Amino acid sequence: MEALYYHKEKNNEIVCELCPHNCHISDYKLGICKVRQNIDGVLYSKNYGQVSSMGFDPIEKKPLYHFYPGSEILSIGSIGCNLKCEFCQNWQISQTSVEGFRRGTDKMNSGEILEIALTKKNNIGIAYTYNEPTVFIEFMLDIAKEAKRNNLKNVMVTNGYINQDPLNELNEYMDAYSVDLKAFNNDFFKKYTKSELEPVKEALININKADKHLEITNLIIPGLNDNVEEFRLMLQWIGENLGKKTVLHISKYYPTYKLNIESTSVEKMLELNEIANEYLDFVYLGNILLAEGNNTNCPRCNEILIRRTGYMTQKRSVNSIGNCIKCDAHVFDHLN
Ligand code: SF4
Repeated sequence: MEALYYHKEKNNEIVCELCPHNCHISDYKLGICKVRQNIDGVLYSKNYGQVSSMGFDPIEKKPLYHFYPGSEILSIGSIGCNLKCEFCQNWQISQTSVEGFRRGTDKMNSGEILEIALTKKNNIGIAYTYNEPTVFIEFMLDIAKEAKRNNLKNVMVTNGYINQDPLNELNEYMDAYSVDLKAFNNDFFKKYTKSELEPVKEALININKADKHLEITNLIIPGLNDNVEEFRLMLQWIGENLGKKTVLHISKYYPTYKLNIESTSVEKMLELNEIANEYLDFVYLGNILLAEGNNTNCPRCNEILIRRTGYMTQKRSVNSIGNCIKCDAHVFDHLN
């Protein structure tokens, strides 16, 4: 499948315009993501229709806590990523090429995926996840268009490293985004992800302006991105640019892939949780089981609106339009 978002230069060289790497790709070479190839001056998407993983997940697993809580969503992933995170949890599918993926992909078309999505009653739509969906934008758009025609929701779980034009096109079909904000420090981005922070901030602002549902995940890696001052700067930026109602998931790190640092301590997670609550209304802890749960409390009267234990959710003091039953504060825009 010919790729979207590129232009040709001299000597059959191509510039891919999909993500801020803007790779210059010579004939027969691949971009940094390993899934876009220049063949005779045409850029091809090599992972179109190549499904590496698929299954129904609780929406809370994306993580999205304020987007139809308690629902399930058909989640699909392909191969490749435009970042090189040393702490990637899905490196087997993200840091390889289609040919290099040992288990092998399933070749599917958008119609087949739609058929599966429509088999389950509690399914609200399709989540593009597991590997970075930006690098399979052509396939994602084809599925998302069919999903819309069938009144299903589209959710993108992304690192936010995408150029503005493709993001604008995605905004036409996406209903919600779960974005990893990996740190608030460009040196960290450069060293541990081989990318830059600024384009991710621009993507977050774009998504927010497009009025899409947005939740942010910040993985805390001890000694690398857990500096409290930096964390406060991030919270301040989120509050000022995206609003204090923006949902933040603070996620516990466990050693994986190339990074072998001790896991984030519970004390650190609780400390950051307390700080984050000074700036934002909805803060949750991820990858950690808390005795008191990961509930949504009303920001006005503190009533428990949704009780959560792991991925189990139970609606409590919230009415059908997403308001707190006790004080009538409006909390949820997306509830079923
Ligand atoms: S999507 Fe891939 S090929 Fe295109 S600029 Fe980004 S890393 Fe390079």
